[in-house]
Amino acid sequence: MQSTLELLDDFPVGVCIIDESYEITYWNRRLENWTKLSTDSVVGSDLRTHFPHFAKPHYTSRLELLFKGGAAAVFSSLLHKSLFRPVNSSTKNIYNTTAISRPHPSEQGFEILFVVEDVTALHKRSEELERSNSQLEKFVHIASHDLQAPIRRVKQFLDLLEQELGNDLTEDIAEHMSVVVKNSQQMEKLLAALFEYATACHGKVNLSTVSLDKPIDQALDAISIIIEETDAVIRRDPFPQVQCDCVMIGIVFQNLVGNALKYIKGRKPEIHLLAREEEIGWVFGVRDNGIGISDEHKEMIFSSFKRLHTKEEFTGSGIGLSTCKNIIERHGGKIWVESELGVGSTFFFTL
Ligand code: ADP
Repeated sequence: MQSTLELLDDFPVGVCIIDESYEITYWNRRLENWTKLSTDSVVGSDLRTHFPHFAKPHYTSRLELLFKGGAAAVFSSLLHKSLFRPVNSSTKNIYNTTAISRPHPSEQGFEILFVVEDVTALHKRSEELERSNSQLEKFVHIASHDLQAPIRRVKQFLDLLEQELGNDLTEDIAEHMSVVVKNSQQMEKLLAALFEYATACHGKVNLSTVSLDKPIDQALDAISIIIEETDAVIRRDPFPQVQCDCVMIGIVFQNLVGNALKYIKGRKPEIHLLAREEEIGWVFGVRDNGIGISDEHKEMIFSSFKRLHTKEEFTGSGIGLSTCKNIIERHGGKIWVESELGVGSTFFFTL
């Protein structure tokens, strides 16, 4: 019967074991093939003579922790390209290495077991996916932009028709026309939201140091009519200067305040724009006294086209929050919501 270690020879991963003096005690067949170093030539020798980078403090400190039984270390192929490559190798393959500590089978202390995976195919696939995603985003950007003009023309001509026909419109035709107008308005809004989303995903992030009051003023200005109509009260903390894309952060505030004004029933909106300096840095937020969001929905509302209500209850496209998430993540920040049903929600973000 095969021993456990012999079994590892047939695994599609490279396996190497070292003891506390860095002496190689096991080297499987897969590693022999990949590195062209035979088991006979490496077992009994010091790992660092074949792979000198293991002597660098960055690795020795991590391995010392493992020799004390520390948690597994994963050395990603992207950051640690040459961990188990043969010296002078020109192979383009990409290897991920995981180092696991386990109690030494016969002595005290721990030994380290390295598992080396060839992730070249996976890597290629993820690059292809990234490329096709980026092409799709470009497509959405162009399509949503170019479709806005014909929709605008449809609306203009409907207005003209209405003016020209005037009193000649029968009740039926007037009703049909109002349905067409309503739908083309909805389509225009959806295309504008899609365009904003595609810009947030794809457009260049133009960083500059600005006071956050600037994008907030722009956002509130863009929705001033709704603020007036709803008689909303908006309180503002003093906001600091930060490095950001002013236009993109304006879109975030416009979406968050717009939602705070929309998702409320039978109350006057009271909105608080927050800025707090905490341990993790500046945290910004938009607090409302609206309908609130249940715990089970707090994550999924940030995905595209996820809505919790019908269009009859609250209008919308379900893209606003995913646009915000994209913008915040492209600034290196995080966005999340804290909420109580029937009491209100606070959307927080960092930059
Ligand atoms: P939209 O408002 O166009 O539907 P969003 O992406 O902005 O799309 O929001 C997604 C969903 O999250 C909304 O449909 C709504 O159910 C919920 N939501 C967003 N903001 C709030 C809020 N301030 N209070 C309660 N629910 C909210």
